[in-house]
Amino acid sequence: MVPDAPLHHHEQLQREVEELCSTARQCYARGWVPATSGNFSLRSGNRVFITASGLDKGKLRPEDLLEIDLDGEVIGGQGRPSAETALHLVIYRERVSAGAILHVHSVWNTLLSGKFEGDGFVALRGYELLKGLSDVATHEHEERVPIIANTQEYAPLAANLKNVLQQNADAHGVLLSRHGLYTWGEWVAGARRHLEALEFLFEVEGRRVFGGF
Ligand SMILES: [Zn+2]
Repeated sequence: MVPDAPLHHHEQLQREVEELCSTARQCYARGWVPATSGNFSLRSGNRVFITASGLDKGKLRPEDLLEIDLDGEVIGGQGRPSAETALHLVIYRERVSAGAILHVHSVWNTLLSGKFEGDGFVALRGYELLKGLSDVATHEHEERVPIIANTQEYAPLAANLKNVLQQNADAHGVLLSRHGLYTWGEWVAGARRHLEALEFLFEVEGRRVFGGF
C-alpha cells in the first residue's frame, strides 16, 4: 500500500485516462516514442493504468491500457505488461504523490544521458524554462537529472532506480543512459508539463554541448 495515493472519482479517472492517451499520441507526433517505444501510466488509489507492451503510441486509446495493482498483477485489459512496468511501480512507491508517469525515448535525452553517464547526472541551469518544473521559481535553479546505467535486467535496474529516487528527493525526472527519460506529476497535465520542460531543456543543452551554441 502506498500512502497518499491520488484517488479519482469515476469521471475524473476517465478524463485522466483520455488525457494520458492524448499525451502519448502527442509524444509520438513529436518523435519522442518511435517504433512502439515508451510507456505511460496513471495511478488511482491502488490501481495503475499502464500501456501494454508493444503498442504504437501514435494510436493509443483508453482500451489499450492495462489495469494492474501495485504489485504488478494484471487486473484488467488486453495484452501483457511491458518489462518497464516494474520501474513505474518503483516510482509510485518512492514518489507517493505521483499520479502519472511518462517515459519517452527522445533523440536529445538519449544523446545527453550517454554523454553524461560518467558524471551520474545532467545539470540544467540558467534557463527560464526550468520554471516549468514544480516548485522551481527562478532560472537560477540548477536541476540535476540523475542518470542510471541501462540494462535489460529489470530487477537490478529497479533497485538502482529506487536508490536514485531516494538520494535525489528533489529530482523531477530520471534518465536511463542512452535509453530515455522517466518523469512524473500529480496529474497527467503536471507530468506532461515536466516532460515538455525537460525535453526542451535537453534539446537546448544538447545543442549547446554538441553543437557549440
Ligand atoms: Zn524505455
